[in-house]
Amino acid sequence: MIKYILNTENYTKENLVKLLQANLQERELIFEKSSSIKEEHIANKVYLRALIEFSNHCEKDCLYCGIRKSNSSPKRYTIPQEEIYKTIDIAIAKGYSSIVIQAGECKEPEFIEAIDNALIYAKDQSGGKLGITLSLGEQEKSTYKRWFDLGGHRYLLRIESSNKQLFETIHPRNENHSFETRLQKLKELKEIGYQVGTGVMIGLPNQTLEDLAGDLLFMKEFDIDMCGMGPYIVSPDTPLAKLAHKIPSEESRVDLSLKMIALLRLLMKDINIASTTALQTLTDRAREEGIKVGANIIMPNLTAVDFKDSYKLYNKKTDLKSHDDTLSAIEEQMTRVGHKVEIGNWGDSIHFQRKTTN
Ligand code: SF4
Repeated sequence: MIKYILNTENYTKENLVKLLQANLQERELIFEKSSSIKEEHIANKVYLRALIEFSNHCEKDCLYCGIRKSNSSPKRYTIPQEEIYKTIDIAIAKGYSSIVIQAGECKEPEFIEAIDNALIYAKDQSGGKLGITLSLGEQEKSTYKRWFDLGGHRYLLRIESSNKQLFETIHPRNENHSFETRLQKLKELKEIGYQVGTGVMIGLPNQTLEDLAGDLLFMKEFDIDMCGMGPYIVSPDTPLAKLAHKIPSEESRVDLSLKMIALLRLLMKDINIASTTALQTLTDRAREEGIKVGANIIMPNLTAVDFKDSYKLYNKKTDLKSHDDTLSAIEEQMTRVGHKVEIGNWGDSIHFQRKTTN
């Protein structure tokens, strides 16, 4: 059956569920196909996005998140402007061609201005050569436009689950956490001209394989350019942690995450897909596996140690020790799985480029 679905490329919801149910032997057939599709359409190249976790203040209260507003455990920080500039300098000096600026959600004018300044600095210092992804949550359309005009050209806004009912079980039921708003914001980002990325959590309490198959079809239908998805990891100081007994084992969440990456590659042959830190957090080498089965983006964390210890969306967050370790370790890991890390190239979504030049 698995072979038949892969040969006919008939990726209905029902068939995607069957593929998600594949056992260890069967899943190799899926992985073989997804890796060869990747090689054919975007080559065995890996692009890096140096991650800067700018602030862990957040106006939202997502029920799964370690830095949610109501959580008093994390020490709150916003990286001072000079420190951000220093990190951008490090990214440029190390040869990164793209950065990701990520933070909890904040709409205060000072925050928006600080992002403006970081964008201006990054573009000036690199002579326009540094590619910039933003991951700063739901903002006014005018703010998205302002940052786009200043040089942000990719935006990652995860839907977390495309099933409205499930979305509502992992967020408080109020206007500040609306499924419809999330969809609207994704549309606005697209209208402005960003390369738009989204993603989901895999292995949530009460999530079914039908939900995950629906997520894949949602991403295809929305015609995303990039994806960052990974296993749900319990953050102990959060309301959703009370349902931790209802989630699949770590092994199953890694298995499902790898299958999700591979299946998305089957559905969307030329988009950018990240092999996420969350994956690596659950199993050593899972990030390499993610790359092997279809992903092509890695986001090494460049946030200074003083700050990144406080940016814990979930427990068990792992990071490599220093900037050098991160780059060289990743290059080594990628070589092991037959991939080459591309330095000096933005590695924009080929899918986006094709859409916009046609
Ligand atoms: S998931 Fe994002 S928006 Fe939600 S609480 Fe965490 S940082 Fe804030």
